[in-house]
Amino acid sequence: MRQVGDKIRISAYDPLMEDDIFPLLLSFFPDKDAGGSLETDITFDDGKVRAKTVFTPAGSPDNVREESEEVKGPDKEANGSKKDVNGPDREDSGLKNDPNAYRRELRKEVARVVYLQIVKLTGKKLPWGMLTGVRPTKLVLERLEQGLGMHATYLMDRFCVTQEKATLAVRVAHKEYTLINDIDYKNGFSLYVGIPFCSSICNYCTFGAHPLSRFGQYVEPYLEALAKEIRETSRLMKKRLDSVYVGGGTPTILSSAQLKWLIDLIKESFDMSAVRELSVEAGRPDSITEEKLRVLKDSGVTRISINPQSMVERTLNTIGRAHTPGQITEAFRAARACGFDNINADIIAGLSGETPEDFAYTLGQLEKLAPECLTVHTLAHKRAARLTTSPQMYEGLEAKGVKEMVEAGAVWAKEHGMEPYYLYRQKNMTESLENIGYSLPGKECLYNILIMEERQMILALGAGASSKFVRDCAERFERVENVKSVKDYVERIDEMIDRKRRYIEEYNIEV
Ligand code: SF4
Repeated sequence: MRQVGDKIRISAYDPLMEDDIFPLLLSFFPDKDAGGSLETDITFDDGKVRAKTVFTPAGSPDNVREESEEVKGPDKEANGSKKDVNGPDREDSGLKNDPNAYRRELRKEVARVVYLQIVKLTGKKLPWGMLTGVRPTKLVLERLEQGLGMHATYLMDRFCVTQEKATLAVRVAHKEYTLINDIDYKNGFSLYVGIPFCSSICNYCTFGAHPLSRFGQYVEPYLEALAKEIRETSRLMKKRLDSVYVGGGTPTILSSAQLKWLIDLIKESFDMSAVRELSVEAGRPDSITEEKLRVLKDSGVTRISINPQSMVERTLNTIGRAHTPGQITEAFRAARACGFDNINADIIAGLSGETPEDFAYTLGQLEKLAPECLTVHTLAHKRAARLTTSPQMYEGLEAKGVKEMVEAGAVWAKEHGMEPYYLYRQKNMTESLENIGYSLPGKECLYNILIMEERQMILALGAGASSKFVRDCAERFERVENVKSVKDYVERIDEMIDRKRRYIEEYNIEV
């Protein structure tokens, strides 16, 4: 059984069904001011699977409603022998001899039934239906690779995705398909290098960033450990390197000499001859100087991110960004002066205290900055973020009209010639929305697609970095994580390298 207080509870005879349905229940009622309580029971009795959901609206404890039904398998109309079955039909689904696949399909069907029960009971629908995972476009991409069609219908019928989101997912997946098929991604890998320090910590952050004021003494030892990890893992890699992403934290918190040293080290250690892009997050404008940008440009960096998140000064103060809108404008000016012609700007819909008018103001200010890429995030309420751990600091500051903001971002991107090219979701996103990356044609960041769609091995180095080893032609992958704390990372660097050694060696001989 899994539950949150007395508000949400799921109990199922198969624990994996609990794992599927728990996030679904949370998506309906993500916050403490939920519209009521939801309790679901999945039972298996007498050869029958049954789903029962009970809903009690907030403030009406006597108005208890419930939906209960036997879980049916796929409709057998197609071959003219319709009958009710418990779970997916083994003959029809080709699952007869594959108990694991059968169980997977049954779990999906149970989740779908529960989703529809909740919709009926609460009158509320989720934009992405019963899809609670991070990568809704992955489903479509897989279908494209299998030569299948009718993707939007598939998402709507099978996963109850709204038409608007299904259309968006299909559009993005087509774009991704075109972009990644341009490279032989299965025989290559991408490299991530993390610099986990920031000038201050944003109220929504759970990226494991360390504030420089408290952890400044760790920067040098951290870079030494990172150099060791870069050198030793690069010697192990035998595949072709396709893309490099230096992220964080805020990489540009390093001095210009440190930045030059780091990029040079990457270039000396790995074979860069086939690398298509070298991206660096210059996320915080207060960390950027023209000298650092010049170093990045001269070192061959092809794409940077300068992230306003908002151009409203009040908001930047509230969320703890420690920079002004003017510094963002200045950072863009300096980047242009250094010759950067591919700059991404991240903005967030749903920041504390923001309204659609604030968001529209930010978009209006972006006119002057003219980024080549725009990433519109929807605020995710993460458990470890200050926003959640210190709610008293943000009382009465819940953003309003977040869906409207996300839509305004899409309109702005379209009006500026951009297309959506990658998309992902996170847990507890405001209004169950998504993050979308838009780009002018030809300016897309390949790394973003490869990591989101789990198509390629990602060698991730640095504290908190999570390497992904894709196996069996993207059928499965394994993660190998580094410790998050910079202190632990420095002290245990040999262990971090050893953790990856076996996986890299296996990956070198696999596709
Ligand atoms: S800039 Fe990014 S990594 Fe740094 S604190 Fe803010 S959200 Fe976290």
